[in-house]
Amino acid sequence: MGLLTEGSPLSWEETKNLAQHVRKHGIKQFINLFARLKDRQGDVLKWGDEVEYMIIRFDDDKQIAQASLRALEILNVLQEPELRDPDGVKSLWRPEYAAYMVEGTPGKPYGGLLAHFNVVESSMKYRREEVSKLLKDGEEVMSITSFPRLGCPQFSYPSYDVQPDNPQSAAQSLFFPDEAIYSGHPRFKNLTRNIRLRRGEKVCINVPVFKDENTKYPIPYSLPETPDHVYMDAMGFGMGNCCLQLTFQACNINEARVLYDQLTPLCPIMLALTAASPLYRGFLTDIDCRWNVISASVDCRTKEERGLEPLKENKFRINKSRYDSIDSYLSEEGEKYNDVPLLYNEEDYKTLREGGIDHLLAQHIAHLFIRDTVSLFSEKIHQNDEEETDHFENIQSTNWQTMRFKPPPPSSSIGWRVEFRPCELQLTDFENAAIVVFIVLLTRVILSFKLNFLIPISKVDENMQKAQKRNACKEEKFWFRRNFNGKKEDNNSSENNECQDCELWTINEIINGKESFPGLIRLINQYLASMEVDTDTHCSIQQYLKLIQRRAAGKLLTTASWIRKEVLNHPDYKKDSIVSEKINYDLLKKAKKIQEGLLPCNELIGCFTNSKTKEEIPPAIAKQHQPKMPNGTS
Ligand code: ADP
Ligand code: MG
Ligand code: MG
Ligand code: MG
Ligand code: MG
Repeated sequence: MGLLTEGSPLSWEETKNLAQHVRKHGIKQFINLFARLKDRQGDVLKWGDEVEYMIIRFDDDKQIAQASLRALEILNVLQEPELRDPDGVKSLWRPEYAAYMVEGTPGKPYGGLLAHFNVVESSMKYRREEVSKLLKDGEEVMSITSFPRLGCPQFSYPSYDVQPDNPQSAAQSLFFPDEAIYSGHPRFKNLTRNIRLRRGEKVCINVPVFKDENTKYPIPYSLPETPDHVYMDAMGFGMGNCCLQLTFQACNINEARVLYDQLTPLCPIMLALTAASPLYRGFLTDIDCRWNVISASVDCRTKEERGLEPLKENKFRINKSRYDSIDSYLSEEGEKYNDVPLLYNEEDYKTLREGGIDHLLAQHIAHLFIRDTVSLFSEKIHQNDEEETDHFENIQSTNWQTMRFKPPPPSSSIGWRVEFRPCELQLTDFENAAIVVFIVLLTRVILSFKLNFLIPISKVDENMQKAQKRNACKEEKFWFRRNFNGKKEDNNSSENNECQDCELWTINEIINGKESFPGLIRLINQYLASMEVDTDTHCSIQQYLKLIQRRAAGKLLTTASWIRKEVLNHPDYKKDSIVSEKINYDLLKKAKKIQEGLLPCNELIGCFTNSKTKEEIPPAIAKQHQPKMPNGTS
């Protein structure tokens, strides 16, 4: 998302009445865009990360930590350099859903030199410092996935009363006041209100509590049928979480399809490995990840669409929220693994096909377009479908899925891209850089060695659910492809979408290998062995890989397990699943010291965490023409 332009949102009634208009023109815009850009070739590898941060305010006298609602104030300053000199800045800043969140990316995407891996961590440090300079006494910028006491009384600073009965309130939440939604742009409140109105009731998020000796049931506010669940009722409980995302540019549309597909089975694996969010609304829960929470937090499906009432007004029963894992592969290799029936309007599919779009892409786009627009601005209603793509982007950008297939923006030098969206945030820049470097390297390995990780989409869905369970990284087994080496074995199974090709493996086996599989780390090292790389970059990469290796092997804790342990071992914890103000405060204080490197945390990060990260690629290396990481297909 670029700098948000100001605008006036339409009412839900108006928006609803224009749903078909947005669909029709969005699809037309995609067809035009595809005709213009389908043959675009020769883009080079570029990539970049997005890190979301929370502003946390510590009150040392009261021993409490709150989410500080100063993102707007801080962003105004953070964005000044970009407004003056958009091409000359080292970082870019964007608003996010909550009034306590900001999103930072590198000023420019990274490129194809291995040495770029050595500037990621520095860029992350730089971003953190930039925010830090703008903070008031007691405030800290933190890369945490979920704020443990979000939605508890006085969780924010300043604190506001909730207004569940106020018809003017966007969320009407029992816990999350509208003031905690970012107010610098109307989009966020508007989405909140429209998702609630489309659904016909407030969203419903229900997370199983971690059952401890003294846990009291029913959990306060729980639904009658699930007294052992933590109930939440607002978009902010999901979209108010932070995450780590990555975008890659492919050399052409086909390579983008391959990357999109091949990274898909890795989404649940990376979700489990980066798990970092076991605490919600002041409770220790039985899940380790945010995914299902966000999914439910923006679930705009009506009762009919959820299958609770017979279809009358709506056309479909839809089995997923618009925030969920992807439903179909886009490459030819992927086609036979599309084993989940795809829902779409036949009309839309036909229009796309007649517009020159192949079956796989047409069904993907038609499937995205089963969703109605939930946010429309008056000045965007009428567009030039030849040149603009706002209606397409309207639907595309509110299908929040594990992967996103991003077409080139109108009149830009940017190529076809894919975005990897499942990862949770780690406390330190070192860890986040490690994840980023690991995934980018994986994309190079997949393309260079022509690896194939595809498994049926239904199995990826199963893995997504497993990934979120408590301690999944250590204890769960995931469907993974047995024969990763190209397509050899597939010839005789072309009709077969049952999973003969996959087996249940642990994260340790996937990352570190087993008899039949070298493991992702070894594959990366094989790839690196064929490349020349400067010593510092080599050293940093090896430290990053070591972290991933040891997390996967269970020698280091996941962030979620560490958080869990901190709560369970806290002297104030009463074995009642409750994360008190004091526990919240101490946990976040400790996390802050770890993120700043002031407190070593061997059980979480290990002891070798001094990478050789650099602010810039040394000119000597840039000049030496280090070999560029090649794209896979030409
Ligand atoms: P969104 O929020 O829509 O996912 P952002 O613009 O916030 O997109 O961030 C996308 C990421 O893509 C950033 O890390 C940015 O550096 C990176 N990026 C920008 N241009 C390119 C490009 N041409 N190819 C790949 N990545 C890019
Ligand atoms: Mg972004
Ligand atoms: Mg975004
Ligand atoms: Mg974001
Ligand atoms: Mg993104």
